[in-house]
Amino acid sequence: MQAEVAGNYIDEKAATITAVSNRIWALAEVGLHEEQSAQYLADALRTEGFDVRLGAGGMPSGLEATWGEGRPVIGFLGEYDALPGVSQKALPLREELSPGSAGHGCGHNLLGAGAFGAVIGLKREMEARGLTGTIKYFGCPAEENFGGKAHMAREGLFTACDACLTWHPGPLNFVRSAASLAVDSMNVTFRGRTAHAAADPHNGRSALDAVQLMNLGVEFLREHMPAKARVHYVITNGGGQPNVVPATATVWYYVRAPQRGMVDELYQRVIRCARGAAEMTETECDIELLDAIWELLPNTTLEKVLAECMARVGPPRFGEAEREFARKLSESFRPGQREAFLAAAFEGAAAVPEELGGQLLNDTVVPRVEAAAQPRGSTDVGDTSWCCPTAQFGMACSAIGTPGHSWQFAAQSGMGIGHAGMLQAAKVLAEAGLVLLTDPATLAAAREEFARRTGGKAYRCAMPDGFKPPFHQLANK
Ligand SMILES: [Zn+2]
Repeated sequence: MQAEVAGNYIDEKAATITAVSNRIWALAEVGLHEEQSAQYLADALRTEGFDVRLGAGGMPSGLEATWGEGRPVIGFLGEYDALPGVSQKALPLREELSPGSAGHGCGHNLLGAGAFGAVIGLKREMEARGLTGTIKYFGCPAEENFGGKAHMAREGLFTACDACLTWHPGPLNFVRSAASLAVDSMNVTFRGRTAHAAADPHNGRSALDAVQLMNLGVEFLREHMPAKARVHYVITNGGGQPNVVPATATVWYYVRAPQRGMVDELYQRVIRCARGAAEMTETECDIELLDAIWELLPNTTLEKVLAECMARVGPPRFGEAEREFARKLSESFRPGQREAFLAAAFEGAAAVPEELGGQLLNDTVVPRVEAAAQPRGSTDVGDTSWCCPTAQFGMACSAIGTPGHSWQFAAQSGMGIGHAGMLQAAKVLAEAGLVLLTDPATLAAAREEFARRTGGKAYRCAMPDGFKPPFHQLANK
């Protein structure tokens, strides 16, 4: 490791960084409601000498913390939103921490605390070396559902950076070069007329009928969509009980495609299905956009920096307690889940690296992978990546085969497995930050690649001016 001062400081502060992670893990606040998590991080950053601003991007849980002066400006992205329904104790058996509540089934407590560890370590390194430059910690709300980074991007927070770095907890230590899908998220609410469903159904105009006909329209549309597009929905309000013709009904849609422009087009076609359904059922329909984010623009120059830094820093160090926990937990995995995960992670690569054959906890550094052609999900890191060169890596914080967004993931995010990965991720980020602060040629190459990939297309937030994040959509439970 070259950023030795940073590495030593991260070790010295391991208890504090872990406490931040555990606090966020126990709070388990869902997207746009992470006020206490953000506040806790804000206090911790202030204690370390950062200038802290809450309310970034027009969200109470949005956070921007700054230290240093002048260029380059290097941003580090943190997240801390939980997922509904996966509350879990730090045990290898299913046991809810708070029944029916949210939990950190994607490890964003580790993500936020790991990036915190990186900036406090890097600050020490810069002080020791007398480096000029600015480091920023961005606390980004609602990655899982409402694209907090897009709101922060609209404020210009990322265009003000020379580069941004982040990471994500997962089962593997590697840089996986993968794009993501741009997405629009919206509520479609139909309004009809209620009636007694048996006595005078002819007087009713069912909003639920409209939802079903819209969905049917979209199912037929599916055949004529671009192959890599993805559309899915849930009915969040389908009426009260069967003997009342529903006067209102709501369906929540995601429309995804590999490029922002494709989503814009497909969104209009889905809306046509809604309007057609309203016409058929003599109902009215309202469309409420909830979130609109961009696809990820990869930056190979930065990805290589991250891969080199990870090779220097090394993998997380797991002890016997962590191995035993992983072994017990893996009894809850479906047969073949581990193999299926590895096949998917390395789809498009020559083969699954041999070294992973017998590993349950990944304690080696896996070479950088160019991912398969079909992007799997969406992330609001996409919006950041259109504002400045951006890259991310994965660090092992869960056993190989752990399902995504699961109680098993939540369990590991609150104990030694997650903590070991988080502390190592903090060191990799700090190491990469030092490279970008001290090697102008690499930073210039990353910026050149960024200019080439954007093709001169300027970022514009896909949400209309004056758009407010949908604080009402999910309750914090
Ligand atoms: Zn996540």
